[in-house]
Amino acid sequence: MKLEILTYPDPRLRRISEEVKEIDGSLKKFIDALVKTVYEKKGCVGIAAPQVNFHKRIIVVDSTRFRRPPPNPIGLQILINPVIIHKEGEIVFKEGCLSIPELLATVKRANRIFLKAWTMEEKEIEMELKGIEAVLIQHEIDHLDGILFLDRISSVTDLIPRKVK
Ligand code: ZN
Repeated sequence: MKLEILTYPDPRLRRISEEVKEIDGSLKKFIDALVKTVYEKKGCVGIAAPQVNFHKRIIVVDSTRFRRPPPNPIGLQILINPVIIHKEGEIVFKEGCLSIPELLATVKRANRIFLKAWTMEEKEIEMELKGIEAVLIQHEIDHLDGILFLDRISSVTDLIPRKVK
């Protein structure tokens, strides 16, 4: 299964994704393809299902793929129906996005988040994340609500052109 990445200003990126009710065989197959997409794209640290036109609340992240990974990275995480239950602090980080390939953006987000989500086994887990891993998860969860980093900047001077190869 080869997935196509939607890019800005595709209006489908603005759709609100639905909750996953059940993880069946066909959904597992889709998630495998989503994970593969992360590893196929150079420098990609995460993806949300709606970025490939699948409007369900699923994100995949791998913080070991940051150019400078955090100490004790959470590594590959497949999170279903992720919900942030608490956030605090502030961090400013330069973010990229597969769906906005020409730009980077300096975005301010919470520096520490607590979230709950389902695993692939439909088990509910809670996680605490900080720093760039908190940034990464907030960025991907935004996609589930049709929000892009363009909506999070305070001025156009926060946008940085990116060389696309
Ligand atoms: Zn993105």
